[in-house]
Amino acid sequence: MILLDGKLTAKKHREQIAEEVRLLKERGVTPGLAVVIVGGDPASRMYVNNKEKDCAQCGIYSEEHALSDDCEQERLLQLIGNLNRREDIHGILVQLPLPKHLNEKEILLSIDPSKDVDAFHPYNVGRIMIGDYDFLPCTPAGVMALLDEYNISVQGKECVVVGRSNIVGKPMAMLLLHRHGTVTICHSRTRDLAAATRRADILVAAAGQAGLITGDMIKEGSAVIDVAMNKNAEGKFVGDVVFDEAAEKAAYLTPVPGGVGPMTRVMLLRNTVKAAERACV
Ligand code: NDP
Repeated sequence: MILLDGKLTAKKHREQIAEEVRLLKERGVTPGLAVVIVGGDPASRMYVNNKEKDCAQCGIYSEEHALSDDCEQERLLQLIGNLNRREDIHGILVQLPLPKHLNEKEILLSIDPSKDVDAFHPYNVGRIMIGDYDFLPCTPAGVMALLDEYNISVQGKECVVVGRSNIVGKPMAMLLLHRHGTVTICHSRTRDLAAATRRADILVAAAGQAGLITGDMIKEGSAVIDVAMNKNAEGKFVGDVVFDEAAEKAAYLTPVPGGVGPMTRVMLLRNTVKAAERACV
């Protein structure tokens, strides 16, 4: 079994991105990312800190806008409006989830699609659907980059995605389809999950249910990508896939952590650089 090393692959991408940033700076453009965080959720705080650290490593300018838990919708919309207008900010990211009193849909719609580096705006979602896009959502894009790194071709393969969220499952399925995979999407109401996963040459697990995918659900010689990040009883991150059992069957397998997570992080940098490149043509 070959371990799909997201840490190492992400490092290679970061080096490439740093070089792209250097070239952009030579042309007088410093890619800029604005990260908006509302409230004090510790997980969100950790993600935002990581994003800022990643930016700094690659020479991308980043700035944080931290708003209090009770921030009003209007205040947030005003901030995004200002960021939309700024020439030095190429990417805008609103850390989700937002506090319940805020209208998340309206907030995401207010981001200029050309600065929507998370690719959550319906305009960008629609472009992904037709296969003509500038930005891809970071997690599915990270999975594709990992498959590419290990030369795992998708064409003609049975691909099964477990999970149908707007940010992971659905775009993941679409990217595999664009690469000519035969794609099945499973969810909580799928009648026989094991029957579907056993057919998978490429299995992407993104249900957020620790231990959901056991060894008997995996096809011999397949590639198994575990997107999930579940906290177990000891507070450690585990995926949906029972790792030791999967390792007996799969030809390729991602670790959790160290698989998809680092790839997701690096894809945000890719999108930010792309946004800056688009802005200066
Ligand atoms: P959501 O909770 O939004 O979606 C989960 C999906 O899994 C839903 O479509 C749900 O079905 C399906 N599902 C849940 N239980 C089962 C089951 N027993 N059998 C089959 N399908 C099931 O989660 P996200 O898509 O946002 O995230 C998925 C996982 O990926 C989480 O663990 C999250 O932490 C992780 N994640 C990791 C990232 C990374 O960088 N590594 C980035 C983003 C997410 P239904 O629609 O019917 O409810």
